[in-house]
Amino acid sequence: MKKSAIAALFAVTLLLAAQNKPTKPATSSLSPAAQEAMTSIDSEKIRATVKYLSDDYFQGRGTGQKGGDMAADWMAQQFKSYGLAPAGDDGTFFQKINFYGVTTDPKQTQFAFVPKSGTAMRLDFASDYVSTNLTHAEKSEIDAPIVFVGYGISAPEYNWDDYKGADLKGKTLLMLVNEPPSDDPNFFKGRALTYYGRWTYKFEEAARRGAVAAILVHKTDMASYGWEVVRNSWGGETSLLQDDKDPKLKSAGWVQLDVARKLAQAAGMNLEHMLDQANSRSFKPVELPVRLQETIVSHVRPFASRNVVGKVAGSDPKLSRQAVIYTAHYDHLGIHPNEPGDNIYNGAADNATGCGILLELARAYVAAKEKPARTIVFAAVTAEEQGLLGSRYLGLHPPVPAGDISLDLNYDDVQPFGDPQQLVVSGAERTTIFPLVQQVAQSFEMAIQPDDHPEAGHYYRSDHFSMARVGVPSFSINEGPLFKGHDLAWGEEKERDYVAHRYHQPSDEYRPDMDFTADAKLAKLGFALGWEVASQPELVGWQPGDEFEKARKTSQSKSGL
Ligand SMILES: [Zn+2]
Repeated sequence: MKKSAIAALFAVTLLLAAQNKPTKPATSSLSPAAQEAMTSIDSEKIRATVKYLSDDYFQGRGTGQKGGDMAADWMAQQFKSYGLAPAGDDGTFFQKINFYGVTTDPKQTQFAFVPKSGTAMRLDFASDYVSTNLTHAEKSEIDAPIVFVGYGISAPEYNWDDYKGADLKGKTLLMLVNEPPSDDPNFFKGRALTYYGRWTYKFEEAARRGAVAAILVHKTDMASYGWEVVRNSWGGETSLLQDDKDPKLKSAGWVQLDVARKLAQAAGMNLEHMLDQANSRSFKPVELPVRLQETIVSHVRPFASRNVVGKVAGSDPKLSRQAVIYTAHYDHLGIHPNEPGDNIYNGAADNATGCGILLELARAYVAAKEKPARTIVFAAVTAEEQGLLGSRYLGLHPPVPAGDISLDLNYDDVQPFGDPQQLVVSGAERTTIFPLVQQVAQSFEMAIQPDDHPEAGHYYRSDHFSMARVGVPSFSINEGPLFKGHDLAWGEEKERDYVAHRYHQPSDEYRPDMDFTADAKLAKLGFALGWEVASQPELVGWQPGDEFEKARKTSQSKSGL
């Protein structure tokens, strides 16, 4: 389709408005072939995928476990049976990714704060602190002065620099989670969390500055999750990409707030006062008269896992070198052999639903009697639950250069609760495609629902973020809590019930009463949006000044037609 999709959409809307009263524009801007393909997306096919992938047979699709490998094989078979072309390594549907699984040995690891004067504070693993060696060495010794660096953020666009040029080579950095509090939308996006507030950024920045260790102070109200979450996610195995050239910390750790308070006391300082100072633009790093002495011993297990990648070639000889990509993670938490009772984390909602949607999208694009101008790539990624690692690899090794990918649409945990009336596309407003997103939402009679908890930084917690990091405009498509035939409270209660009783638990299982209308609707919406974007003359970009604009420019200077 060469004609501007938006212009066509307006034309149809005006025509309808002239004929009778204003009515929904529908997705009439799509060509009949695209319409037909889109309409063929079937909620019962999504049900079949969810039922199958969440069966105990797949053992919870754990990264680095047999069940995860079986799921990857099955996704590739589906891609092949639909007639997708392979877009992985050496003409296959797979991107092989090498990982290290690193587990800190709590018995052999010792972690102490040693003040210049006074007695050493020896801390207990899990209850007081957690710590992981990101260099994947089996044993590291650390003896380094502790420097308090406030939020540990250097953000020129907000005129904020906690480091002030201090030499931090070989030091241990003590940092706060989150970012300076603000209601000003022009300062760290107000209440919303930017990437600077995420722990991933802080550990990366500390390593870039030559630090050997970093310790985050956990404060529940600031982190938006409790100590239990920190302990559970850092207490077990951490997966690391082998193919990662960035500098890494020997010890990336967290301490409880109380521990930080005692550390401050041992240094003759006051934690509350330190927290206050960190909120000032003039804050400078403060070296404490205390050293971190740590012997960190890890079990290191190399393993491989795979992304599954296929494509449908675009119809335009020039534009088909560019792409629109759809992503969904297929991995979940696997099987936990040491836990009593049901220890298979089936991951029906998280994220067999996204896989069901991805497969229906792939099937519909292949079935379409004509194709959009650009190529469409489908990627079922691994290791999302390990910290977005499969998509990180995909972003670093995209089947089409990142600068030539117009848009990534991601699906993660789309609850089968019925017919949703609200659309959640957080991050879409940061891209140049937002007006089209609004029109498509309207044609599906869905209201775009703003992010209820921008301070939780959800944008940085699913696979689309890995694509944004390499500059690709990207966001996830999901539903808000208002469903047809119910009030808002009903949907909110369903959501609460899921988070409390099934999210990341063995009980996230398939049930026959699941209603996949939602999943099919959001698949169709994503189909319409992706098709339009794949047909437009221009690539999608970020709004001026966005934190990912620079990455987009960098990637586009390396590629482009
Ligand atoms: Zn998950």
